[in-house]
Amino acid sequence: MTTLSQRIEDVERRLAEACARSGRRRSEIELIAVTKYVGVPQTQAVLQQGLVHMGENRWQDAAEKWNAITGSRWDASLDHAPSGQAVWHFIGSLQTNKVKEVIGKFTYIHSLDRLSLAEAIERKAAQLDIKVPCFIQVNVSGEDSKHGLQPEELIPFAKQLVAFPHIEPVGLMTMAPLDGEAEQSRPVFRGLRQLRDELNRSAVLSKQVDGLSMGMSGDFEVAVEEGATWLRLGTVLVGHS
Ligand SMILES: *Cc1c(COP(=O)(O)O)cnc(C)c1O
Repeated sequence: MTTLSQRIEDVERRLAEACARSGRRRSEIELIAVTKYVGVPQTQAVLQQGLVHMGENRWQDAAEKWNAITGSRWDASLDHAPSGQAVWHFIGSLQTNKVKEVIGKFTYIHSLDRLSLAEAIERKAAQLDIKVPCFIQVNVSGEDSKHGLQPEELIPFAKQLVAFPHIEPVGLMTMAPLDGEAEQSRPVFRGLRQLRDELNRSAVLSKQVDGLSMGMSGDFEVAVEEGATWLRLGTVLVGHS
């Protein structure tokens, strides 16, 4: 059994190597500890190790952890968590009927992939008087099973987001095929980076976006080499309960 601190150390070492290979700085990359496989105690242990970004993909599984760790201390009118407290990232597909639970509790949404969801987020965020940083999810690999916009839908979709003042687009997110070698993710990650650059060149958003949320346990080094700014790490970092 490896301990949490050993896993963090191991990820940091691999990350440093990937940064060295690709001429990047470690400070350009944020780690999201995906806690969906573990319970409250392990999530608390992750925070105690100094990791602050927590990723969950279903509200039903996250609720107990969110309530225990952030719950009563939360003030939705703050647009950031007080220092040392968890910053929650919603990384899974978000059903419109869960928006009222999730918005205000999760600072970042990584799965904005349709207009009806943007409308629901906008309504709730306006009510709370907050701005919600969102990643637009793109299905770069083209697999049927994956959520996300088709690449050619990205710019028209981004254009429509300008009408939602409480949504702040911060970048793009993708899921690579899960079953292959890490190298199989490379063209997917590279494709996402090229889409981000195209989006910025098109200037349809009011601000340029830097964010690339890509890379999981099996392929995070490749993601770093291709420009990831947010890695979503479950198994390799947090472990399984
Ligand atoms: C579960 C999950 C992850 C983390 O998966 P690991 O392979 O365990 O690192 C990352 N992103 C999303 C969207 C997930 O659902």
